[in-house]
Amino acid sequence: MEHRIWIDGEWTESKGGKTTPIEDPATGEIIGNTVDATREDVDRAVNAAHTAFCDGRWSKQLPSVRSKALWKLADLLEARSAEFARAESMNTGKPYNYVSLGGDLPFAVDNLRFFSAAARDMHGSHAGEYSSGYTSMFMKEPVGVVGQIAPWNYPLLMAIWKLGPALAAGCTVVLKPAPGTPLTTLMLAELTAEAGIPAGVVNIISGGNDAGQAIVEHPLVRMVSLTGSSGTGKKIMKTAADTLKRVHLELGGKAPFIVLDDADPALVATKATIAATINTGQDCTAATRVYVKESKLNAVRDALVAAMEAVKIGAPFDEGIEMGPLISGVHKERVQGFVDRAKAGGAKILTGGGTPKGMTEGHYFEPTVISGADQSSEVVQQEIFGPVLTISSYKDDADALRLGNDVLYGLAASVWTNDVGRAMRLAGQLEFGTVWVNDHLPLTSETPHGGFKQSGFGKDLSAEAVSDYQITKHVMVKQ
Ligand code: NAD
Repeated sequence: MEHRIWIDGEWTESKGGKTTPIEDPATGEIIGNTVDATREDVDRAVNAAHTAFCDGRWSKQLPSVRSKALWKLADLLEARSAEFARAESMNTGKPYNYVSLGGDLPFAVDNLRFFSAAARDMHGSHAGEYSSGYTSMFMKEPVGVVGQIAPWNYPLLMAIWKLGPALAAGCTVVLKPAPGTPLTTLMLAELTAEAGIPAGVVNIISGGNDAGQAIVEHPLVRMVSLTGSSGTGKKIMKTAADTLKRVHLELGGKAPFIVLDDADPALVATKATIAATINTGQDCTAATRVYVKESKLNAVRDALVAAMEAVKIGAPFDEGIEMGPLISGVHKERVQGFVDRAKAGGAKILTGGGTPKGMTEGHYFEPTVISGADQSSEVVQQEIFGPVLTISSYKDDADALRLGNDVLYGLAASVWTNDVGRAMRLAGQLEFGTVWVNDHLPLTSETPHGGFKQSGFGKDLSAEAVSDYQITKHVMVKQ
């Protein structure tokens, strides 16, 4: 793949892009190289997408044709699941069986099948008479060329969450994976051609933040969809203002995990551990802040520490592994910094806090539980993106709500209780795009995923994602 990017239905050489090494986070070894696309590369990709959009080879296709190609893409991906899962695990350190093959791949295939069906089920077009002698029609059209910018934590899934709804709606795209994790997204390129999606509809360029910036600045790009950090979301929104582009932002999170006094400590400890350590905590919806009713704090804390210590850490292809390494050495230093500063500030590290014993190769980090951190401290307020949980108590439901909502983020939260009324009252007042009751993490293709507050706006997954890539046109006919 060295120096090659996917433009207009074929691999093409970059015009001057430098080579970027791709690392295996489990060993630190270099496993390949991709190109850091230049502004000229971005311009070629956008022009290919623009031509493809304007001549209607996809945007004016019958929904049945778009649907068929997306279903075929799902079939092709399913048939090659093992190969994609292997590349994803090598590039990200995800446990192969538990996360890549067992989770990300089947979900990506299901997402594509959902968007294939959604392509044939577009709502919102209707007609009516609102002025005498006129008929009004409300047409749904694809927005146009969309720039799609993805993060490194779920490279393939995020690519599918971007491509699926945009293609169902009839848009053409320029998709850029994160600089360190482009492998599976580039592998997807050839599959789109094999599925019958016409040349120029999907363009995939590897590259860093400058390539992303060039996409956002390009005047022919009508909308930008980012999954990334809130800081990047703010930059993109500012840049997009110059050309008044639509923006669709799936950003960071800092999910509270609120345990009421009737919840079972053993169950919540097991579930909080999974929710904090899946994908090594590098998940925007990961449980990060456990708040427990005072009377239950000791029981939940002890069970949680035991569950976190039992997580099986290891290399992606080891048997029975539940948690792999962090994505990079730089990221590990960042996570370690949060933990060290919390400790220096007076918080207590109940378990974990550094490199697991004997695991000096790769970027492994222990599941970590911190108590006694102040609500205003950075370890409670900022996204750490590692297997790190804080735990603290609250007095009553109002206090739990205040603490739960007291962050800039608003992506996901969970409430643990058998009392339906209390759960509903809390869910209604938590300012988060998803609130789970008695679970934390599950997503489905049919249900919208997206943030409130500084976690962004716009939805991934669900029919709502498809409508985010559409624009309404009013056609008024004089009778
Ligand atoms: P990041 O913001 O550093 O980078 C994301 C992407 O944006 C990359 O492709 C990067 O090259 C690009 N980018 C960076 N600066 C840019 C600029 N100025 N203009 C255009 N593009 C630019 O995020 P990351 O570290 O790759 O991913 C982790 C973040 O993603 C976390 O904050 C996480 O919560 C978030 N995330 C959110 C969701 C969600 O659904 N809300 C899902 C997964 C990850």
